[in-house]
Amino acid sequence: MTAGKKPVIFCDFDGTITLSDNIVAIMKQFKPEGYEQIMKRTVDQEISLRQGVGDMFALLPSSRKDEIVDFVIIRAGIREGFREFLEYVKQENIEFYVTSGGMDFFIDPLLAPFDIPADHIFCNSADFSGEQVEILWPHPCQDPCNNGCGMCKTTVMRRFPEEQYERILIGDSLTDFEGAKIADMVYSRSILTDKCAELGVKHVPFQNFFDIMDDMKQKQQQGVL
Ligand code: MG
Ligand code: ZN
Repeated sequence: MTAGKKPVIFCDFDGTITLSDNIVAIMKQFKPEGYEQIMKRTVDQEISLRQGVGDMFALLPSSRKDEIVDFVIIRAGIREGFREFLEYVKQENIEFYVTSGGMDFFIDPLLAPFDIPADHIFCNSADFSGEQVEILWPHPCQDPCNNGCGMCKTTVMRRFPEEQYERILIGDSLTDFEGAKIADMVYSRSILTDKCAELGVKHVPFQNFFDIMDDMKQKQQQGVL
């Protein structure tokens, strides 16, 4: 942590703001024929996240849109302390962005109660106008990333130069790891914690947003944030 830099937070959505992964939940619930193979190849990193997610959603007929949207919104739970954390960052004038590999059709309604400006939410979108669901990728990888992230977290983060910003990443999975490597501070849970520990990336594990808030407050008191 370096005093004098402006803190900016990049926060994952699925499994971080929500209790679990909504894409996985949708696939497990609707079980479109052939999704398991694609999910396995995606998790095994044989194909890019963009290809895997795009191909899985393309198996779902657009006619099931309402069922899919209702399912995910009813089922998704928000992690404890999120509202209080947002109040804290607002009060402290800390910039807060949601950087998600998920889709607008569940992220927008789930975040609607929280007053986050639309241009602070980076995610993919889903087009239900064709026969099958088509995922659109408005924030693709830019040089030097060529991982086929879909929504490229490191591309978003690089817009905030490290000379000026204290870049704080909050996340839970493998898809957050590239961002974790270029962040100044990482709050991690689940697989991201294991991966950071394994590869020596400095991180603070958390269970809920109160943990993150407490740690940030402590760092502010110490004058390192
Ligand atoms: Mg996640
Ligand atoms: Zn990328």
